Amino acid sequence: MVSLKNVNKHFGALHVLQDINLEVTKGEVVVVIGPSGSGKSTLCRAINRLETIDDGEILIDGNKLPAEGKALAKLRADVGMVFQSFNLFAHKSILENVTLGPIKVKGMKQSEAKELAMSLLERVGVANQSQKLPAQLSGGQQQRVAIARALAMRPKVMLFDEPTSALDPEMINEVLDTMVQLAKEGMTMIVVTHEMGFARKAADRVIFMADGKIVEQATPEEFFTNPKSDRAKDFLGKIL
Ligand code: ADP
Ligand code: MG
Repeated sequence: MVSLKNVNKHFGALHVLQDINLEVTKGEVVVVIGPSGSGKSTLCRAINRLETIDDGEILIDGNKLPAEGKALAKLRADVGMVFQSFNLFAHKSILENVTLGPIKVKGMKQSEAKELAMSLLERVGVANQSQKLPAQLSGGQQQRVAIARALAMRPKVMLFDEPTSALDPEMINEVLDTMVQLAKEGMTMIVVTHEMGFARKAADRVIFMADGKIVEQATPEEFFTNPKSDRAKDFLGKIL
């Protein structure tokens, strides 16, 4: 579903992605962990073309990433993204936040988009908030709306970049539970998170990144109990 082949990216002199090779199969849940600055966000942003890459290839469901235009908009719809900061449209209602993409990008009829949005808001447990503005919701609720908004585009893969790190502790689980549910339903997911509980519960594979490289990959069980590299051991020692 997602394929990166020899992907390289520089920010000036900084080689932020170093020859990244990664294959994510349909329905697979991959958790990406690693120290701050290791290139995790850049990797996510490259996958949905918020960042360009210098060389290599990124394929989504077998299609090469187009550079721009309509084809890129279509591909972006295939790749849903949820960020650390919820990024909802502040002056639009929760319902409008979710219907906007399907109407504007997919040309969906208002009534159909509304029906879809309400079913997704129901699914993430915030249907009763649909007429409110984002600021009237808690952080956990807003992040669940952000997930519903991404799902409204019927993506083939969902990227999550530290989706719970801006949340108060008591709201983290409501968002993680929504993500676990999504994983169970068979969504292909790439999740940058340091939430080991989520990784153990939902991940098929953990990827450990450091200094722009994939240093290690293993099942969560294997990775957390028996990390191979010193970098991973050192990192786990700090966060566990
Ligand atoms: P992570 O998400 O693992 O913390 P990032 O992908 O955000 O890491 O960043 C990797 C490195 O690239 C960091 O050193 C960061 O400062 C740098 N970086 C990220 N975005 C930019 C940018 N737009 N311009 C220059 N440097 C950047
Ligand atoms: Mg990051």
